[in-house]
Amino acid sequence: MHKKGDATLFQGTKRVASPFLLVDIAVFAPLNKTFTYQWPERLGEPRPGIRVYVPFGRGRRLGMVWRTAVSSSDASIELKAVIDCVDAWPLYDSRRMQWLERACRYYMAAPGECAETALAWAGNEDKRRWNCADAAALSLLDEELARAFEHRKTLSAATLRKKLPAPGFYHRLRQAVDAGHLTEVLNKSTLHASPVMPAEPVPERLIPAQQQALDRISHTPGFAPFLLFGCTGSGKTEVYLRAARRKVDSGSQVLILVPEIGLTPQWLARLATRFEHIAVWHSGLSDAQRLQTRRELPDVEVLVGTRSALFLPLPRCSMIVVDEEHDTSFKQQEGMHYHARDLAVLLAQEMDIPVILGTATPSLESWRQAREGRYQLLELPERIAPHPAPAIEIVDMRGVEAALSEPLLAALGETKAKGLQSLLYLNRRGYSPALMCTACGDVPECPSCSFRLTLHRRNRQLRCHACGFARHVPVACEHCGEDALLPLGEGTEKVEEQLASALPDLRMARLDRDAIRNETHLMRVLGDFSSGKLDCLVGTQMLVKGHHFPNVTLVGVVNADLGLSLPDFRAGERWWQQITQVTGRTGRGRHPGRIMVQTRNPEAPWLSRIGGEPACDTLDTELSLRKTLNYPPFARWVRIIFSATRSGIAMQAAECVAQACAAYLPESITCMGPVPCAIERIATRYRFELVLRETARKHLPWRLMPLLSRIAVPAAVRMRVDVDPMDMM
Ligand SMILES: [Zn+2]
Ligand SMILES: [Zn+2]
Repeated sequence: MHKKGDATLFQGTKRVASPFLLVDIAVFAPLNKTFTYQWPERLGEPRPGIRVYVPFGRGRRLGMVWRTAVSSSDASIELKAVIDCVDAWPLYDSRRMQWLERACRYYMAAPGECAETALAWAGNEDKRRWNCADAAALSLLDEELARAFEHRKTLSAATLRKKLPAPGFYHRLRQAVDAGHLTEVLNKSTLHASPVMPAEPVPERLIPAQQQALDRISHTPGFAPFLLFGCTGSGKTEVYLRAARRKVDSGSQVLILVPEIGLTPQWLARLATRFEHIAVWHSGLSDAQRLQTRRELPDVEVLVGTRSALFLPLPRCSMIVVDEEHDTSFKQQEGMHYHARDLAVLLAQEMDIPVILGTATPSLESWRQAREGRYQLLELPERIAPHPAPAIEIVDMRGVEAALSEPLLAALGETKAKGLQSLLYLNRRGYSPALMCTACGDVPECPSCSFRLTLHRRNRQLRCHACGFARHVPVACEHCGEDALLPLGEGTEKVEEQLASALPDLRMARLDRDAIRNETHLMRVLGDFSSGKLDCLVGTQMLVKGHHFPNVTLVGVVNADLGLSLPDFRAGERWWQQITQVTGRTGRGRHPGRIMVQTRNPEAPWLSRIGGEPACDTLDTELSLRKTLNYPPFARWVRIIFSATRSGIAMQAAECVAQACAAYLPESITCMGPVPCAIERIATRYRFELVLRETARKHLPWRLMPLLSRIAVPAAVRMRVDVDPMDMM
């Protein structure tokens, strides 16, 4: 990554006398290399994993010390000096640094981008506030700093920095903190308020399969990846929690990754009854909450969070759990395109600890590893509930106009009459996915994307779900002028509307990104449902994930045909995962469940795999198909997306890279494209893609990196590299 001559980028600096300390800095910028700087002695000893301010371009930037003891091959080059050192101690130890470097190489990320993603948890130092109780004592150490506290005892780092503008401010601040003259002021945070979700009762005993799984996890020393594969309702959570308990009892810490913020309330409720010190991490936290969690890291027993929680350095982490490992939200779609599940396994390897991947519907990636013996397979074949999983009732929707069929409405009514609850799943927000003119056939599209606009009737808007564009619903067709616009298909809003008119007594709520404004709101809706104040939830994927509602006895899949015909080879796998997850939400308590699936395509082969076929047969069939086709997880793919506001230059850049790949990469790597992406245009940018494939998985992605770093893509073209792409749209 560091190349000879990088440092010549910096001009107008003093000549460095030899011998001198040099460091490589991963500057927080999407530039594909590290930069060498001089390390001033006054900042103490440089160490990898420390954040620093460096001069960059015309300003200063934050970066992280990537490597120390760098020797420059050319002693006469001119180097700028590091301005300031933000952290007293490395944020990562050597094992985590090693892990980060491997991640950076694998995902072909820019070191600065990788470091910025990884260290985002450390927060903004400027926002921290410091209190000086005894300015006189401080003045013995640092007179100038003490003077800043003359009029006010508490100041933010940003204010202090303005008062002491010289380089090395943070270094001085750290020294004062270390000497005990300054203490951090923390806001009272709502983080550890008592959870609103009622906790599930703790089962007294484990069933034999759970006990076996727990024993295997507890008795396997060192690095060990486990695939905990149990059908929905089979008690995977209980296994994680007991394994975590054993770790915590021996004085160490456990990290639990969950796919969505929406799941953290339920996890908090589960954890709160069993652990004393839990912490939560996700993108919805305020700065104050982040700082507090950061400060508490050494004392935390269990940390639960979404994918970015992986980067928090729990000092005594001895086990990682990835719940719902198949979930696509573990894949980051911008910056460093990492997969949190795969990075969790890598981290566990680096730290020599167990990692448990839990799921009812394994990803084919993990299934392959288990089938080939690299992951230990732990199976929980039975449901804990005292009755078998319900059979699927298929409702043929051919010729039915409404979103909800008569049999499904009748079942909803019966369920309510018995005092039980139901869930309706439809993975489409809004009122209807398109508005069509019945006179001329015109369908309004987004002006910036190749995407139909979704009708949101309540707000009287047409919205683009790709870029967020919104406009008023036209009164008449803008193409032919006829007043003949008709909503096409159905979204959650329309289902809600039909439900309200057909079953006016049904107390229901909608659970999707439009209806749920924030986490508090989400927790309230889930809490209301849990406590029986609601009879029915209508929702998208938000509904699917891991919730446990013992009184739900009816699950309706409103449109099972959605998502099956997408031009993505994972479409079938994903559809199966979603439908299996959603149907697994029923009959988890004392009452047996019922599942109704509405479809216009009742003969579709994937439908027979729901409920009827054992999950491992479905997985084995799909896995052997992928093997025959040489698709992932057997081949390794790298997708490169080129986008620009003018289609021509994006295409040219893609062609140029394709030619270089053909000329310089080993023959085992095939390069497909360039072709327009399945979604050709998003937010005014035209998109083209190259897909590099290698069956042997030997050279990709490593051989690609040096090649791409030599190719200059025009500034107007954005190039995104996605290793192991999960999204082919
Ligand atoms: Zn028209
Ligand atoms: Zn758009």
